[in-house]
Amino acid sequence: ALRGHSGWKPAWRNPEPQPGYDFVIVGGGGHGLATAHYLAKVYRKSRIAVLEKGWIGGGNVGRNTTIIRSNYLLPGNEPFYELSLQLWEGLEQDLNYNAMVSQRGVMNLFHSDAQRDAARRRGNGMILHGSDAELLDTDGVRSEAPFLNFNNARFPIKGALMHRRGGTVRHDAVAWGYARSADRHGVDIIQNCEVTGFRIENNRVLGVETSRGYIGAGKIGVAVAGSSGRVMSQAGMRLPIESHVLQAFVSEGLKPVLPGVITFGAGHFYVSQSDKGGLVFGGDIDGYNTYAQRGNLPVVEDVCEGGMALMPMIGRTRLLRMWGGVMDMSMDGSPIIDRTQIDGLYFNGGWCYGGFKATPASGRVFAHLLATDTPHETATAYRFDRFEKGLMIDEKGAGAQPN
Ligand code: FAD
Repeated sequence: ALRGHSGWKPAWRNPEPQPGYDFVIVGGGGHGLATAHYLAKVYRKSRIAVLEKGWIGGGNVGRNTTIIRSNYLLPGNEPFYELSLQLWEGLEQDLNYNAMVSQRGVMNLFHSDAQRDAARRRGNGMILHGSDAELLDTDGVRSEAPFLNFNNARFPIKGALMHRRGGTVRHDAVAWGYARSADRHGVDIIQNCEVTGFRIENNRVLGVETSRGYIGAGKIGVAVAGSSGRVMSQAGMRLPIESHVLQAFVSEGLKPVLPGVITFGAGHFYVSQSDKGGLVFGGDIDGYNTYAQRGNLPVVEDVCEGGMALMPMIGRTRLLRMWGGVMDMSMDGSPIIDRTQIDGLYFNGGWCYGGFKATPASGRVFAHLLATDTPHETATAYRFDRFEKGLMIDEKGAGAQPN
């Protein structure tokens, strides 16, 4: 089938690093690439480089379970995630790239009266912030997903909070689309370039030491997700962030069976179906701190038990692949997008297990911060000092499920 497919040009250049740039973004994941794209396209900045220690798409942007949604509750979060969903809705036009944005709906199940109350409250909060929410009863869930275990006496399905604008996006296409667009706007994307240190004088950052030599910078934005603690320690900072591994699983390809994303409310399990047919699912993080990109068997067992409790038919499919990614878990479950105490050094991280859905908004607001030195109106709460002042945004995401 590939006969005749020759002479393809790379989607972005492979430039040598320049001695210096106005803006250096450390980390070529979704957030770093989106930041570069918006800095160049929206804020009309130039002399921008993205430094990536590995290859584009090799980090969590290409390892996640692809779920996007705007179903947060707290005022510090929901406007930001709603901005993100709106940017997803126009992303393919913006990038001129097919990222397979699919608003197939996200259904958060609940299994008790107390959970129904919480879901109703969250749904009202979402609607107040301009998002969409619908409360389904048991029959409403049954009509969407008749294969769920409705007879399980231990976790009866009492209904669900349905968020129809949520869904999935082909994750690595997001990295490639942002990379191609940033490149076309003149951004240098430099792969195999690990930042190993910061040059700081009189409390101002001057540039970065890298595996490909010193690169000067007017401003530096760090967006390295699971490596946040390690990279920022090179600037002498200790972050309120711990790194843990999160695993993902894909089954063999099946005919279409799942209507959209489904999350279990009585255990750590969530599932969707890729366009190729594989069931894509996951659960809880591995409980210990690590920078390793692979997890351990107890979590595999835990995830599979959750799957069996929710939809026993999953036991008939074969697992095809599984992998892990390193999560930057903040202390309150919400991100940090802020200046640091070092002039010219900015930080974006603490995405926990939910940063994929945030990619467009994160890039947009980080670019705003870097370009204007003021926080974007949807990200004013994502400050470092919220931990010091007790202004935590204590929201792990919608319910207990990572995604
Ligand atoms: P990354 O892609 O990890 O980018 C960071 C980059 O920094 C990496 O490429 C890394 O190589 C680079 N880097 C690190 N150190 C250096 C250095 N010293 N110098 C240069 N470069 C460096 N979120 C959702 O919203 N929905 C989901 O369904 C979802 N599911 C997930 C499932 C799994 C299994 C995992 C692992 C994550 C999931 N997430 C999900 C979370 C989401 O993937 C992350 O929060 C998000 O991708 C992090 O931002 P990023 O894309 O910029 O990270």
